[in-house]
Amino acid sequence: MNYRHHFHAGNFADVLKHVVLGALLRALQSKPKGLLYLDTHAGRGFYDLTVAATGDRLARQPEWPDGIGRLMERTDLPEAVAYYVAAVRESAVAGAPALSFYPGSPWFAQQLLRAQDRAVFAELQPGEYAELLRRFDGIARTRPVFQDGYEAVRAHLPPPERRALVLIDPPYEAGNELAAVVTALEEGLARLPGGTFAVWYPLTTRARASSLLPRVERLGLPPTWVAELTVAGENSPSPRMPGCGLLVVNPPWHLDREVAPAVTWLGDVLAQAPGGRGELRWIVPER
Ligand code: SAM
Repeated sequence: MNYRHHFHAGNFADVLKHVVLGALLRALQSKPKGLLYLDTHAGRGFYDLTVAATGDRLARQPEWPDGIGRLMERTDLPEAVAYYVAAVRESAVAGAPALSFYPGSPWFAQQLLRAQDRAVFAELQPGEYAELLRRFDGIARTRPVFQDGYEAVRAHLPPPERRALVLIDPPYEAGNELAAVVTALEEGLARLPGGTFAVWYPLTTRARASSLLPRVERLGLPPTWVAELTVAGENSPSPRMPGCGLLVVNPPWHLDREVAPAVTWLGDVLAQAPGGRGELRWIVPER
């Protein structure tokens, strides 16, 4: 496990993921019944952006200036993005310059938990887990676990609440990661058919296409949409990862109406080269 999220924290992919994550949780909370938030690949929960500019040996180009860095001063934020930027502002550490730090998915989720909700954060990299544990130590309703994220799906579903939002956000560094994601989704849906599952995936350089989506076709998914963001078009050589998406299975009713304009707007604002765009599309429509 070589992946360290520090280098990527606050980049365009984090922006898409965390905008949609907040919108999902807020929409699910329109019902009073409590829910479980399960983060299968939680990371450390809070990132020092000064570290993002330092590689193992050499200085490196931080990614957050082309992500969250482009949003803080905007005055035309769509609703879902406005909630997200407000949350990032709230995460600021007193006395530190703006954007010295950037929160991770456990932090965004924890901010929104109600008294009747709870969260489980799974992380398997020892250093990241130690930091996650330290940050959420004693925070009510949150439970960091040193556990394989795919095992966590089996261990924590179905929850007694019978309602859950599961974020599956792996680093895709292992050769069999796509297969593991598809199996986890299949197992998760078998355990909690009405659960909401959000799966992050990269879009590959050449085709700007996902290798995840063709693989989930065989699952016979319930209503599902994808939110995809590309920051460079087909003919641009950079960046190395030109886009990403979130597959959202069992999305809350009508949430697409809030998320779609936000993703389109992000496509315009976060483009790094001609051809960048954002879109939401249903792959299994609501019946
Ligand atoms: N979800 C986080 C966020 O949005 O702030 C970012 C997570 S990062 C993309 C992926 C994380 O998965 C890394 O912290 C990595 O150490 C962890 N990881 C890698 N393999 C894992 C596994 N099998 N189970 C759980 N965590 C794993």
